Amino acid sequence: MAQEFDVLVIGGGPAGYVAAIRAAQLGLKAACCESAAYADPKGEPRLGGTCLNVGCIPSKALLYSSELYDHATHAFVMHGIKVEGVSIDVPSMIRRKDNIVTQLTSGIKGLFKKYKVTFLPGHGSFVAEADGLWKMKVGSEDVVAKHVIVATGSRARHLPGIPVDNVNIVDNEGALKTEAVPKRLGVIGAGVIGLEMGSVWKRLGSEVTILEALPDFLAAADQAVAKEAWKVFTKKQGLNIHLGVQIKEVTTGPNTVSVKYENDEGDQVVEFDKLVVAVGRTPNTDGLNAAAVGLKLDSRGRIEVDDHCSTNLRNVWAVGDVVRGPMLAHKGMEEGVMVAECIAGQAGHCNYDTIPWVIYTQPEIAWVGKTEQDLKAAGIPFKAGQIPFMANGRALGQGDTTGFVKVLAHAETDQILGAHIIGTNASELIAEAVVAMEFGASSEDLARTAHAHPTLSEVMHEAALAVDKRSLHF
Ligand code: FAD
Ligand code: NAD
Repeated sequence: MAQEFDVLVIGGGPAGYVAAIRAAQLGLKAACCESAAYADPKGEPRLGGTCLNVGCIPSKALLYSSELYDHATHAFVMHGIKVEGVSIDVPSMIRRKDNIVTQLTSGIKGLFKKYKVTFLPGHGSFVAEADGLWKMKVGSEDVVAKHVIVATGSRARHLPGIPVDNVNIVDNEGALKTEAVPKRLGVIGAGVIGLEMGSVWKRLGSEVTILEALPDFLAAADQAVAKEAWKVFTKKQGLNIHLGVQIKEVTTGPNTVSVKYENDEGDQVVEFDKLVVAVGRTPNTDGLNAAAVGLKLDSRGRIEVDDHCSTNLRNVWAVGDVVRGPMLAHKGMEEGVMVAECIAGQAGHCNYDTIPWVIYTQPEIAWVGKTEQDLKAAGIPFKAGQIPFMANGRALGQGDTTGFVKVLAHAETDQILGAHIIGTNASELIAEAVVAMEFGASSEDLARTAHAHPTLSEVMHEAALAVDKRSLHF
């Protein structure tokens, strides 16, 4: 006899596990299945998806460890702290990261118990619709559900002719498992993963070279931020970033990887001890039996959905990396909540205009809403206020004054249209702008809000004041 549920979620990543928890909170009988893609040492599927297993959480753990090492070796001295003989034990750093992953992934199993979500280990796929119910398979088991939420996420995109073995040529999974500092690290792709992973290994002593196909650096970011980031990463930190490259051939020796590429200076060859391939991600739709039930995909292989993440099939929804929009954990979680609320008959909603972006380099880069180039292209009149961290007492005290905050507001209504930060703690500071935009705030609303002194948040305050040319400390 098949188990029956109101909602079956396929995939236990951030979009899926959150959808299942919210559905159960709303009184629906919810289950979530997860394949063994990220199995524990006993072969049991781990929840948490890319984010907890091989993405957000492990990468931030390594970024933090490498930042502490960088502080000890470069920043302590300016505070008068003398340390000698500092060294890095990479295997210990990796074990700490692994322990965090284990703790968090098993924590999701605990949340499922708490909220009465049934965890079904196994690969989920469609069989057919009959009498308004979806017949599904999870592993070899039959399952029946009124609603199905597909949250199967994404995997690293690989390039033809560049075989990822996760030893010499690695994607995000291998980059997070590396147990020794490579002397020469190559990265294909100057996107988010390339910059974050490049930063980790550069801080620990690798010579890092990043090869990017596009002629522009961080094209999606506000160009003032991208320009500042380029200056800091290449000139101050010594990341070698080459733009406008075309990769021609990659060959591997026993312990080396050789990359032939072309740029505007002609043909180049460069040797690495390890190569990271970070050129974007591919949605996971294989093995869902999507074609047999007529589930529509878009031209990029993602499941096609409307603004409420409803697919072309009745009572089938899709959320997270497997659908359009930025591949970000918090975007997937918002969609998971929205869909669960829609299924429960509530007015679920996701505001795609206020999804923040963060790149966890040092300085961090964070933004929400429109960039200056977006507003110019759309012909929207705007005012900009930009204040450097150099003018902030807290940043000076902390010894890190790199970067700025820029607030963009509509020239006539003063509504905040975007906020862009490059600087220390940008990932935390951006939340204020997200809340302000969610509430439809004007720059004057932020300018008239008291900000604790001395804090880094005062730079956001001053940038809002600067929109009307009335900054007080710059
Ligand atoms: P996933 O997390 O990919 O989860 C999908 C799950 O579904 C997987 O566990 C998979 O095994 C399972 N699955 C697939 N098919 C089936 C099936 N048929 N049956 C059963 N189970 C199935 N985002 C951020 O917001 N902040 C960050 O700092 C950040 N850092 C990142 C760092 C790296 C290195 C990477 C690779 C990604 C990072 N991301 C970050 C992106 C983030 O990880 C993804 O956006 C997020 O995990 C997407 O969530 P999801 O639930 O849609 O999919
Ligand atoms: P990305 O899209 O951020 O960057 C990929 C880069 O590779 C792009 O700049 C692209 O132009 C370049 N590229 C593509 N093909 C190339 C080629 N043949 N040769 C050279 N360069 C090439 O993708 P990513 O860095 O792989 O990360 C995947 C996704 O994971 C991101 O888009 C993001 O959504 C998510 N992520 C988020 C965070 C975060 O939120 N901090 C961190 C890591 C990953």
